[in-house]
Amino acid sequence: MTDAAPPPTLALSGVTKRYGSVTAIDALDLTVAAGEVLGLVGPNGAGKTTTLRAIAGIVRPSAGRIAIAGVDLATHPVDAKRRLAFIPDEPHLFDYLTVREHCRFVARLYDVADAEPRIDALLDELELGAKRDALPGELSRGMKQKLAVACALLHDPALLVLDEPLTGLDPVAIRRMKGLVRALAARGTAVILSSHLLTLVEELCDRVLLLRSGRPVAIGSLAELGALRPEFAGRSLEDVFIALVGEDATER
Ligand code: ATP
Repeated sequence: MTDAAPPPTLALSGVTKRYGSVTAIDALDLTVAAGEVLGLVGPNGAGKTTTLRAIAGIVRPSAGRIAIAGVDLATHPVDAKRRLAFIPDEPHLFDYLTVREHCRFVARLYDVADAEPRIDALLDELELGAKRDALPGELSRGMKQKLAVACALLHDPALLVLDEPLTGLDPVAIRRMKGLVRALAARGTAVILSSHLLTLVEELCDRVLLLRSGRPVAIGSLAELGALRPEFAGRSLEDVFIALVGEDATER
């Protein structure tokens, strides 16, 4: 008997989310493997954030199943959520906890072993060491984003979910963030990120999922998307996006 292959780090099957008469995600099937970086792109209102929030367990799908490293999010929510970290575009921080206290709080929630040295190392790596005793109100927008990243990485998640990860970061921090995503993927972390910055997606992602009205319009590497239609060969993701979605892209 051969060993069964491990489950993909992220698996969506038939995931649908309806808000009244609006179908934000429409029967979406998707897998992301360990070490893979998948980019989610699409016009405003295409369903990107809803998809990421469903994967993070914040939004409950109207239908379909989501599994994180083989653990069903609906039936085993705590176990599944332990295996992922979600960084929204606007980090949610506690006004009354310092940078270090945020990290300690998250470390306790996730039962992180050796939390103190890990917190120190992460804060230094993210250049927040000098701000460890500052409250969120004393941090710049980019620093708040970095704190959210530190909190997300403390428990070494199998899946990292990023919504517009570069919002508010300066050029040096952008380069570091890209390096961090690559390093995490090289260590086997699966990453799914949503962004309108198509050059970032092109640079970082192994595959891209183009969503429109909650449905996939195309999925694959840029080379595979190029093979889809000969006129895409050698074109940028921006060219492919405009060709597939059109100039007047915002969802109605
Ligand atoms: P953007 O690029 O503008 O951030 P998006 O692709 O992330 O867009 P979503 O925020 O997922 O899009 O929205 C998808 C659809 O679902 C839109 O029609 C939006 O109005 C609707 N929607 C999202 N959240 C809610 C909600 N809480 N209640 C009602 N409708 C919602």
